[in-house]
Amino acid sequence: MAGGIWVYAENQNGKFKKVTFEMLGAGRQLADQLGEELCAVVIGHGVGELAATLGEYGADKVYVVDSPELARYTTDGYMLALSKLAREHQPAVIFLGYTVQGRDLAAHVAQRLGTGLCTDCTGVNIEDGQIVFTRPIYAGKAFVEAVFAEARPVMATIRPNALPAAEFQPGRKAQVIESSATFGAGDIRQVVREIVCQASGRPELTEADIIVSGGRGMKSAENFKILEELADVLGAAVGASRAAVDAGYVPHSMQVGQTGKTVSPQLYIACGISGAIQHLAGMSSSKVIVAINKDPEANIFKVADYGIVGDLFEIVPLLTQEFKKL
Ligand code: FAD
Repeated sequence: MAGGIWVYAENQNGKFKKVTFEMLGAGRQLADQLGEELCAVVIGHGVGELAATLGEYGADKVYVVDSPELARYTTDGYMLALSKLAREHQPAVIFLGYTVQGRDLAAHVAQRLGTGLCTDCTGVNIEDGQIVFTRPIYAGKAFVEAVFAEARPVMATIRPNALPAAEFQPGRKAQVIESSATFGAGDIRQVVREIVCQASGRPELTEADIIVSGGRGMKSAENFKILEELADVLGAAVGASRAAVDAGYVPHSMQVGQTGKTVSPQLYIACGISGAIQHLAGMSSSKVIVAINKDPEANIFKVADYGIVGDLFEIVPLLTQEFKKL
């Protein structure tokens, strides 16, 4: 192989997504084992200074594509920028985060480059000189190990929170390479209407270390307040089951599961959630699972590390009260 191990460093509001550092951690190990360079790719506008910091997270080179047309994410603009860069430098591997943006961009770039894409990977290893990706199938019930037979570059999206982050090495420098991007009329589709969601001020669900999640057992939108109070004490994000979303208690952006978000926090607290397979598909890779449910037979207890059988309306406020004391 040659051309380097590439990590697409997704950035928003002057910050990199946490999964960027996790991909750099995995990328560093691959690069060392395969004798490749570790390269990060930063796309945006006014991102040069931010890009240069990636040397401290193990990148040997950072490619920067900076242009006013790239100030905000568009599928067309970013796809053209990343695929042009990849054609010029022929990377061996390209990693992107399994985020909303990464999923969109990876699929389009893979199509452009005529290669394959291994999605939602939770493990990356080398066996007999080949890169082996571990990824869940059947809604997380089983895992497969996948290799690329021929297609190049090897492309994969990596699940946030699944891999350890790169070691921080203060003062370590990367070579920064600026690349140009020029777009023709009609290359980038224009946004004609924008729907802006209100930010909660809490961590992003897919990146959060702790998630407090509520299901149909919450019984109303108002009752989610007790989860928000617990979440704020813990610095957690708030998630939900599809039943809670379908009942209109919370928006779909909070849904965890097969048709919602996939999360892998250090701690997942499921409140009034039965543990249907489609919900487990989105959260069973959480490091520690705590379930609060009044039904001792609830399926969620089969995957929980700690279970509390009882009424969540008594237990959640008690937990909030106790955590406040810490
Ligand atoms: P329920 O199954 O109704 O469970 C509610 C739980 O709350 C019960 O276990 C009950 O004992 C407990 N409870 C009630 N009151 C209290 C109380 N006071 N204190 C403590 N416990 C209490 N689901 C998802 O979550 N995410 C998905 O992405 C998703 N995708 C799907 C895709 C498809 C194609 C299909 C068919 C289904 C999907 N579902 C998904 C739906 C899934 O099958 C379940 O219907 C759903 O997860 C149930 O949500 P729930 O656990 O909140 O509700």
